[in-house]
Amino acid sequence: MSEVLVLVDHVDGEIKKVTFELLTAARQIGEPSAVVVGSPGTAAKLKESLAAYGAAKVYVAESDDATGYLVTPKVDVLAALVEKAAPAAVLVAATADGKEIAGRLAARTGSGLLVDAIGIENTAGSGDGAVVVAVQSIFGGAFVVKSKSNKGTPIVSVRPGGLEAEQAQGAAAEEAVDVPAADAAKSARITGQEPIVGGDRPELTEASVVVSGGRGVGSAEQFEVVEKLADAFGAAVGASRAAVDSGYYPPQFQVGQTGKTVSPQLYVALGISGAIQHRAGMQTSKTIVAVNKDAEAPIFEIADFGVVGDLFAVAPQLTEEVGKR
Ligand code: FAD
Repeated sequence: MSEVLVLVDHVDGEIKKVTFELLTAARQIGEPSAVVVGSPGTAAKLKESLAAYGAAKVYVAESDDATGYLVTPKVDVLAALVEKAAPAAVLVAATADGKEIAGRLAARTGSGLLVDAIGIENTAGSGDGAVVVAVQSIFGGAFVVKSKSNKGTPIVSVRPGGLEAEQAQGAAAEEAVDVPAADAAKSARITGQEPIVGGDRPELTEASVVVSGGRGVGSAEQFEVVEKLADAFGAAVGASRAAVDSGYYPPQFQVGQTGKTVSPQLYVALGISGAIQHRAGMQTSKTIVAVNKDAEAPIFEIADFGVVGDLFAVAPQLTEEVGKR
């Protein structure tokens, strides 16, 4: 069966949910090999969960250099593995870093780049010789298209939250690989890291509950009503683009076509109309709850539960009820 490389997305040895989605997608094409690039000891912490999502092999690329630079060590390791293992494809999360890694890797290996996939198919059927097809959602989710690469090893960036992760036991056999020494003169070095707003809340694309606010929230100060409900759930906070553009909430929390894609168990939309570009980033959420004072708001077309009412009356009551449980 063809080998498929999956770049493991982790922060300080804590695995990101998108990695499980990548491993699930890789199984559509062949046998997933997880590639862990990190400081010494990282792979040991991740191995069990990688095995639980079907990693047949774990390439361990550990060195102090691996975490000291932005993307270059990961590109170096993946490029060396593409040459050595001749995989059917390389899957990388379509995050800010992942997109850069995928682009650089495609250029380095002379391969085709398939961006922002929400699914992967193998049109060759089972066995060797996979034909990798990326499924992509375009024009704010209005169309689904499929694309394939005609050159080299397909490098695919996969949208976090775009597909459902499913468990499958894998052997996770370890194989050590070298991290080429970084060229300090040419590589961007990390000199410091500071957490940004969001505090102890889960990361938006990782959270099982997301509470988002829209223009209806009215001001940055009033976003507190969204945060309070989020904190009662232990949820992440999201925002519509209108809320971000109005300066109510920082841009990294934007959900939608030009923001992040989320697919939590529960998505609560407060004062969000439900424009197609917003829906593109959240419509695969398992349960959608909307609070909007306009009964005709399009968000109610996709909501599982809707409350027609003033969010400033409804959200605090919800917060109180959730807080009691
Ligand atoms: P509005 O559409 O203004 O809706 C506000 C809602 O709040 C209304 O339905 C109103 O009835 C309700 N409301 C007001 N007061 C209250 C209250 N007190 N209680 C309850 N309800 C209340 N948008 C995104 O979100 N994400 C994207 O990534 C994104 N990308 C885009 C990309 C492109 C190329 C374009 C053209 C647009 C994009 N947009 C995106 C913008 C999108 O088209 C909408 O303009 C935006 O989603 C609207 O945000 P909103 O629902 O918060 O605001």
